[in-house]
Amino acid sequence: MFCHECGDSDDELIEGLCKDCFLKQLSILTIPQDISVTVCAHCNSKLENGKWKESYLLEDEIIYRVLENAIEINQLTKNPEIELEILQMRGTIAECYIEAKITIYGREVIQKYETNVRLNKSVCTPCSKRNSGYYETVIQLRADSRELTHREIAKTNDLIKKSLANQFEKDKLAYLAQKTEMKEGIDYYFGSSKSGRRVANEIKEEFGAVIKESPRLITQDKSTGKGLYRVWISVRLPNFQVNDFIEFKDKIAQVASVSGSKIIAINLKTFEEFSIQWRDYDDIEVLGRSNEILKTTLISKSPNSFQILNPITYEVIELPLNKIAINSNIGDEVNVIGIENEFYLINN
Ligand SMILES: [Zn+2]
Ligand SMILES: [Zn+2]
Repeated sequence: MFCHECGDSDDELIEGLCKDCFLKQLSILTIPQDISVTVCAHCNSKLENGKWKESYLLEDEIIYRVLENAIEINQLTKNPEIELEILQMRGTIAECYIEAKITIYGREVIQKYETNVRLNKSVCTPCSKRNSGYYETVIQLRADSRELTHREIAKTNDLIKKSLANQFEKDKLAYLAQKTEMKEGIDYYFGSSKSGRRVANEIKEEFGAVIKESPRLITQDKSTGKGLYRVWISVRLPNFQVNDFIEFKDKIAQVASVSGSKIIAINLKTFEEFSIQWRDYDDIEVLGRSNEILKTTLISKSPNSFQILNPITYEVIELPLNKIAINSNIGDEVNVIGIENEFYLINN
């Protein structure tokens, strides 16, 4: 058998060539001369087949991945060792060096290549929405019949920052587009309705609140008939705070705790705990504040009643015996709240 190329005879020809000629013409890798990739200048998302794909890679890593994908390995070679290197960046062009090493027919073959990877900088869809101030949801944070406290505002701002940071990896529209502070409260504009809804629920978890959503049609796409909706979410924080006094369905009570699911209150007559759902919030009336609690003295006890001094007029008041009075001694200082001309003993 004779080699097609040099005419030498060889025992085993590879594709009609002797070993020397075969190795001379062998190219381990096929690499395009110009490789390009489009990435978002803001978030490094990558454009693939016309679609933006989120990528959490650094620019160098993106270049290496694109290069890897562009390299074709000759089927006649098995598992070549490949080394990639970015020699330098010239503007948006990465000059790359590739080295491939194989051992074939007892010989080590090393081949060197160079190519360019061009990084086209563009702006992905979520980032261009963000840049243009696009929003899908507005949370209107208000407090019922009062102003928001500094603590509530600071906590909410902090909560929003953390929540969006957590959501951003999965939802590129989880951003705060705008914040408007007004006398009656704060409006927060969110890129996606999902992120806005989630924040609204987190605010409710934190403070307790009444949430109401109202979607509004903004525009209608004439060709598809699909509408663009924006959702306004009213988040109303309760008028009362923990330890304030309320009336609910004829029960006069002190608020013991507030959570996202309910309000727990203690009946001031029976000292029994009961819960109120947020949907019944409008049936709650605030009767007094925790800073209106006064101190007075227990002056006497009988089997069915006890007496205290009215902390304002110092008249003697007689009240039916209850748990707190039983557990107090004559002469003790006790806490009372005056509601609608009646006094109630309060736990310390
Ligand atoms: Zn030959
Ligand atoms: Zn982007």
